[in-house]
Amino acid sequence: MSAECCRLCGTAPLRTTVTLPRVPANISRLLPPGGPLDDHPVTLRLLQCDECGLAQLAEAPAEHYYDDYLMTVSHSPQMRAYQQAQAAEFVARHGLTGRRVIEVGCGDGHYLACLAAAGAVPVGLEPSARFRDLVAQRGFECHAGYVSRDAPAPGRPYAAFVTRQVLEHVLDLRGFLAGLRASIVADGAGLIEVPSFEQTLENGRFFDLFPDHVNYFTDRTLRLACELAGLAVTWLTRGMNGEYLVAWVQHALFPDAQSLEDAVRRTCTALAEFVAQQRSLGRRVAAWGAGGKGLTTLAAAQVAGLEYVIDSDPHKVGRLTPVSHLRVVPPETLKHEPVDAIVLTALAYREEIIRQCRELLGFRGTIAVLGPTLELV
Ligand SMILES: [Zn+2]
Repeated sequence: MSAECCRLCGTAPLRTTVTLPRVPANISRLLPPGGPLDDHPVTLRLLQCDECGLAQLAEAPAEHYYDDYLMTVSHSPQMRAYQQAQAAEFVARHGLTGRRVIEVGCGDGHYLACLAAAGAVPVGLEPSARFRDLVAQRGFECHAGYVSRDAPAPGRPYAAFVTRQVLEHVLDLRGFLAGLRASIVADGAGLIEVPSFEQTLENGRFFDLFPDHVNYFTDRTLRLACELAGLAVTWLTRGMNGEYLVAWVQHALFPDAQSLEDAVRRTCTALAEFVAQQRSLGRRVAAWGAGGKGLTTLAAAQVAGLEYVIDSDPHKVGRLTPVSHLRVVPPETLKHEPVDAIVLTALAYREEIIRQCRELLGFRGTIAVLGPTLELV
């Protein structure tokens, strides 16, 4: 029994919603006629996460479904027309003409042909050897396997990815989506199509539940899964009479917090040098602001030789700053215990404090405002 924690958000335990005690173990294979039948029903238990809402099965499929499956829907004219229109719109919307697009789980390669007809340069990724043979017969490049966090698509980066009717099978949901993101360029696009669980719920369709579909996506949970993987959803649509849910996504860039590492060194050095330079000229230096920014800066920079810290809050006055152990004093202290320079750390009150220094307290010395570098006012 596997630990039942949510595949998307990690919450445990999951709530059991529906139990079907008797369903086929594998809905992608019909049995051969005649002979002894090695065929046993399985119990299907649909779980739901009360935190993020993802409906899911805990158990892995009983059989090695992916290694050598052969199921195709591209013989249907309705499906062919749907796929051709979708591929054409995807290529047109994202300017993919002449650019490489990877389809993860490309099946018999029908959709690759749709992408090619729309002007893209399609590449397939497919675990089934029988399907890869069919794709090769169509003349398309096709690699073996799937993607994961540690193994993005071979031949990356691609301009875009497509993955249709795959995500509902994937146990390592977060890893798979991370692998998709890592397979495309920084401004790349993607198209993810899954069966619509909205449709299942709206119409009481318990018969949409299959042992090999381990994830059941609503608009909300598909969007959440994509966003958590750094794939911004730009459009969410329904296709094939509402059967499918389609997320159009874009590789989302986020600012890198690593840049703060440089700021620590830069700001602390600038502050220490400023205070040391003032003191070498015989000048006295104080800080203004015993709030979070000030306390953090004074502690991190380990500046020696500050006289005190000014703060307007009477609740702070008379106490010592943590780590740096400086006296917290009221603004009037500037008059009877004067300094020549002030390091301003209460940035939100910058203008108010400068005005107070100059106009009310008659301070004529240097005011150094904390920032990427010290700004001298
Ligand atoms: Zn969850």
